[in-house]
Amino acid sequence: MLNNVGRPTQPMETDDNMVTVETFTGNHGLALETPLIFEQGVPGRVGVDMEEPAPVKSRLGNLARKGEIGLPDLSEPQVLRHFVRLSRQNYAIDAGFYPLGSCTMKHNPRINEKVARFSGLGDLHPLQPASTVQGALELIDSLAHWLKTITGMPAVAMSPAAGAHGELCGVMAIRAAHEAKGETRLRILVPESAHGTNPATAALCGYKVDAVPARKDGRMDLEAFAAKLGPDVAGVMLTNPNTCGLFETEVKQIADMIHEVGGYFYCDGANLNAILGRVRPGDLGVDAMHINLHKTFSTPHGGGGPGAGPVVLSEALAPFAPLPYVVQGEAGFELLETRHGLAKDSFGRMKGFHGQMGMFIRALAYMQSHGADGLRQIAEDAVLNANYVRVGLNDMLNSPFDGICMHEALFDDSTLKGTGVTTLDIAKAMIDEGYHPMTMYFPLVVHGAMLIEPTESESRETLDQFIGAMRHLLERAKSGDVAYFQGAPHFAPRRRLDETGAARNPVLRYSPSTEEEKGTAAS
Ligand SMILES: *Cc1c(COP(=O)(O)O)cnc(C)c1O
Repeated sequence: MLNNVGRPTQPMETDDNMVTVETFTGNHGLALETPLIFEQGVPGRVGVDMEEPAPVKSRLGNLARKGEIGLPDLSEPQVLRHFVRLSRQNYAIDAGFYPLGSCTMKHNPRINEKVARFSGLGDLHPLQPASTVQGALELIDSLAHWLKTITGMPAVAMSPAAGAHGELCGVMAIRAAHEAKGETRLRILVPESAHGTNPATAALCGYKVDAVPARKDGRMDLEAFAAKLGPDVAGVMLTNPNTCGLFETEVKQIADMIHEVGGYFYCDGANLNAILGRVRPGDLGVDAMHINLHKTFSTPHGGGGPGAGPVVLSEALAPFAPLPYVVQGEAGFELLETRHGLAKDSFGRMKGFHGQMGMFIRALAYMQSHGADGLRQIAEDAVLNANYVRVGLNDMLNSPFDGICMHEALFDDSTLKGTGVTTLDIAKAMIDEGYHPMTMYFPLVVHGAMLIEPTESESRETLDQFIGAMRHLLERAKSGDVAYFQGAPHFAPRRRLDETGAARNPVLRYSPSTEEEKGTAAS
């Protein structure tokens, strides 16, 4: 059956799996379908009534556009409905539990949003003269002060725009520091369990990535690490807590060992949420560490907004920090924009302006509304919640590493062996239960990994319901109901997608292929 936009309708299954309900519109109650916006366009339809602009002489030379760019013609209500309908199909942390490990999807308090919209902040322009934005510069300076205090580090580069960008900043500072000593070093050591951005960053900076295996207990193998150390090693990139949700207990020793060979210690601090106010990276011998403001200090991310990845730096790396940075001069706050004074060895600029101002405002609002005691409690509650999930499931799923976890609970797929049900199937069935799936198949060192990060902002009732749903699914898998899982998700706006096909034959540009589609687009 075709719906009114010429597409096959998505049948809605009922609970006995036997009867399917197809509607004429393709809508199911308040779950509304919407065709591609290009399919909705009708030539000549307009959304705004404006005068024809006067002809202009193009100064673009052969860069000038040769033909129409093919935007659809639509009315305002069509556009509005299209995007509102799409937004209602979107899962969000504001709608439900989002246990995506490593991503720290926690509640973004609305006070942050209110402050970020204050007219003096929301209306700023990055090209305003410093004398007119003293308050904004002071805000950046205060946030920098909080970040340095929390981490026990002497300096912070504020401009990196996300965690991965922060890693780039840190490794560029490391490279600049070696070059300043006239040294060319070739390798960066990265544990096997590292976040994928770590080896990518090292490679982008021209280093050879040398992987260090993990021990049976999920921490970096110190002996293997020692064997790889040498005068050509520029540094080590270690995530702590690591991506198995474990604290790297020998971190101080790792720092001493890398310093011994003249290398620097990069710590991936994306998971600072778990140790906030409990551990100061500065006390662990860290030389550079990015902080994902969007994970630790709330602020929306993952489709909800940009991130921000300030990088705290040790005395040794601080002189190489990127420009610009805020300094307090006699006449007020200034922006150091060129290599002089404090910044005379800066490796350069990473970004057009000073960083993600909207994220800075949200992060500072979050810190100030929680206070020092509240920030410390965040780490305690995040770890408590993860362990609550771990204990709630550990008779049905295997934890590959013994003992207490940090902010995320990690399971492998060994208890699913022989059931025909995979980690992916469990994830799809979770969608039917109304949950965003956990992180799957990561970290790579764990077979069929399921990485669950509840964060501190979830209540005990939410966790109990989630644990209940997971137990229900696992029992169903173990009882041999493979067909149920292979058909999942049953109730989502779309059924299971052909992920392999989508990866192998991506369709990145819309062009009507069938006569029927062409007809719909034009009529
Ligand atoms: C999220 C994350 C990153 C990357 O941060 P982005 O802001 O997504 O670039 C790096 N390392 C770890 C451990 C992370 O969890």
